[in-house]
Amino acid sequence: EVRVRFAPSPTGNLHVGGARTALFNYLFARSRGGKFVLRIEDTDLERSTKKSEEAVLEDLSWLGLDWDEGPGVGGDFGPYRQSERNALYKQYADKLLNTGEVYRCFCSNEELEKMKEVANLKQLPPVYTGKWVTATDKEIQEELEKGTPFTYRFRVPKEGSLKINDLIRGEVCWSLDTLGDFVILRSNGQPVYNFCVTVDDATMAISHVIRAEEHLPNTLRQALIYKALGFPMPKFAHVSLILAPDRSKLSKRHGATSVGQFREMGYLPEAMMNYLALLGWGDGTENEFFTMEQLVEKFSIDRVNKSGAIFDMTKLRWMNGQHLRALPTDKLVNLLGTRWKSTGILSESEGTFVEEATDLLKDGIDLIADADKALSNFLSYPLHSTLASPEGKAIVEDKLSEVSAGLLAAYDSGELITALEEGHSGWQKWVKSFGKTLKRKGKSLFMPVRVLLTGKLHGPDMGASILVLHRAGSCGVIMKEAG
Ligand code: GLU
Repeated sequence: EVRVRFAPSPTGNLHVGGARTALFNYLFARSRGGKFVLRIEDTDLERSTKKSEEAVLEDLSWLGLDWDEGPGVGGDFGPYRQSERNALYKQYADKLLNTGEVYRCFCSNEELEKMKEVANLKQLPPVYTGKWVTATDKEIQEELEKGTPFTYRFRVPKEGSLKINDLIRGEVCWSLDTLGDFVILRSNGQPVYNFCVTVDDATMAISHVIRAEEHLPNTLRQALIYKALGFPMPKFAHVSLILAPDRSKLSKRHGATSVGQFREMGYLPEAMMNYLALLGWGDGTENEFFTMEQLVEKFSIDRVNKSGAIFDMTKLRWMNGQHLRALPTDKLVNLLGTRWKSTGILSESEGTFVEEATDLLKDGIDLIADADKALSNFLSYPLHSTLASPEGKAIVEDKLSEVSAGLLAAYDSGELITALEEGHSGWQKWVKSFGKTLKRKGKSLFMPVRVLLTGKLHGPDMGASILVLHRAGSCGVIMKEAG
């Protein structure tokens, strides 16, 4: 059975890199009918906070990455927080002590420092060379009786190598002679990170460990612990870093990097997931637009690339526009209406005006936040810029007054309003007959009408624009100053 896990440390916000790791795990589980487990790695008691854990869970839920087992959901392999699993770590550490894979080390900090200095002077790797590797039972008993503090130290084979077959990076091989015996349980009883991860992955029956490339060096120690404990090794897949456009590691100085920031900027979870999936993965075609369902259907770990992927804000923005326009109409109308009301451009968040304005403006925006500017620009009247531009002047000179007199007459007689009430076809019929009367058609008719009725030289479809402006008069639009 496929069982994967996402194992965030709750020491800050969920970053796009973490979100992508979670996504790949999620897609792998869903595409293979497996389970997606969430485990909170809060062994670093000083840096872990409850607030950060809650924020990470909230971000994952917002992204739609629902977990099958973990905090808030439960499951047969819990508890799912490392801070609640200390007894288990101790139990497995003792097991290794009994089998001799681990020994008690009574070295003081001074002794260990000294060992490092000596190794440094001789230009040797800083491996443990203390006497406790081979101490006798009697020596150990003496220290225990004295109450000397001790750590559990893992016995690493002194030669040979260890090899794994990474699903993304291929064969990875480490030689063992420079590793040295490492601590798995500190003298205060606190287990070390690599030991916890291994015990957890093993006891949670994790079949595939999909995680960031930066954890590759940990894999060596973890693999040794697996062997010692006699657990079958999971398959490993180390995903490459996300890079900034300058190919350095993506960080805060490159702008927004946390999922929460993107959410606040008005990005859609659908677009975030689609974009992050493309950082290192593709279905082998030119296609770049995927819904979550399509991602689940198409995803395969074999297609994950081992080189670093560049995070391109412009592309993410573009992708958001694609997803925004793919939303069901009522959902988009609701998003924009709510936005317009909350930013104070409209007094109502729903109604025919909101529907028509959404339809009119949606092609020109990528983010929900862009809709504010789009609507207020549309409803403003940049008279000066129109009249100051050569194109605008030409229209005014071209007997604009003839068209405006005609428009006024049609408005006063009620003819124009009647036509607009009939919607698009009414408008079309009217403007055609209006052109006939003036002996104008094409640009010489439409440009002056557009300028007179919308106040702009260019814009979305003129008929649709005028219908929305007509509606705006009765639909709770609050006119704001332009800009
Ligand atoms: N807790 C680790 C992190 O947040 C993940 C460890 C792992 O996936 O093995 O980076």
